[in-house]
Amino acid sequence: MHPFTLLFILALSASLAVELWLLTRQVRAVRANRDRVPAPFAAAITPAAHARAADYTVAQSRVAMVERVAGAVFALAMTLGGGIAALDAVTAHAGLAALPHQVATVAAFGLLATAVGLPFDAWRTFRVEARFGFNRTTPALFAADALKGLAVGALLLLPLAALLLWLMHRAGAAWWVLAFGAWAAFSLLVGWAWPRFIAPLFNRFRELESGDLRDAVESLARRCGFEPRGVYVMDGSRRSTHGNAYFTGLGRNKRIVFFDTLLSALATAELQAVLAHELGHYRLRHVTARLAVSLGVALAGFALLAWLGREPWFQPALGVTAGGPHTLLLLFMMAAPAFLFVLRPLSALLSRRHEFAADRYAAEHADAAALADALVKLYRDNGSTLTPDPLYTAFHASHPPALLRIARLAPDRHA
Ligand SMILES: [Zn+2]
Repeated sequence: MHPFTLLFILALSASLAVELWLLTRQVRAVRANRDRVPAPFAAAITPAAHARAADYTVAQSRVAMVERVAGAVFALAMTLGGGIAALDAVTAHAGLAALPHQVATVAAFGLLATAVGLPFDAWRTFRVEARFGFNRTTPALFAADALKGLAVGALLLLPLAALLLWLMHRAGAAWWVLAFGAWAAFSLLVGWAWPRFIAPLFNRFRELESGDLRDAVESLARRCGFEPRGVYVMDGSRRSTHGNAYFTGLGRNKRIVFFDTLLSALATAELQAVLAHELGHYRLRHVTARLAVSLGVALAGFALLAWLGREPWFQPALGVTAGGPHTLLLLFMMAAPAFLFVLRPLSALLSRRHEFAADRYAAEHADAAALADALVKLYRDNGSTLTPDPLYTAFHASHPPALLRIARLAPDRHA
């Protein structure tokens, strides 16, 4: 056995073991606190709602455990199990020229990976979300979403894959620098186009109706230097009762989006405070920072890929004996997560820092107490756990735990 084969098996097993251990800790922490509402939430959240949120978190964690195991089995089957080599042999039967054949193998892989993920999406939507009363997605909408997702993915990713494969073949030893340039241009283009051209394929977006809320939103946005016409309402209620708000987009397509479910759940002052939080993400350039980090990781990834492409042991060590640039790309995509897993806590930490910073911004530009009230309602209505495991949070949570956020926004409520 090649030493790298062993290293890959060890990394994959270790990352799976840590994931399952973290999820087990999360389930234990949530169960241990199931019957006791944390003091700052006692007035707003009933013991029954708190217990229901705990059961919901446990159910979600169970799906995640099975999904992690399936993901590891899939990675093994596609690499050492010969899956990628077999896909490549099947597409070779079509008798295509070299580049179309390589793109066809990438497309077949994408189709297979999507098919493996779909049952888990269905399980979450129709079993877990439905059981706790959150789901509004019909089977027809679910199928339409899956087909549209596949079409958008193919339209965006297959031309990119063709360009990368062509560069790997034709651009000489420095191909990875050009490939990184193409990747960066693609990331910027998608970041710019997403809110305006792609998200509307899945949801309807409208401007706020005129009234007190619109006036409040416009004056706050103006004070924070944001174009008020960039504030939209999305029909999130088509798919679920969960409420949320987010900031997205680059350049002139920057948008703050409220779910319609949030508008009906929060009072005007609370919505203003949530808007101030999203404006914080905009003013503090969090989207740009995340993009810069992801491009830095991509540059390192392409350099590594170029080196591995020159090493004759890499592809055979992962189950492909007669490969090309396309199998190199696919094997790299399958193997990298097992190693990059150790960086996961860093990206979660960056995200939580951004959330704290956006909360601070909101406290300065709107009402901190109203934001605390809005968060309590959001945690209650979304069934989010108030008592996550600290290690699970450190590894995975994009948002700080509710108790920490409330303690900073409204210290007087923290018993
Ligand atoms: Zn945020």
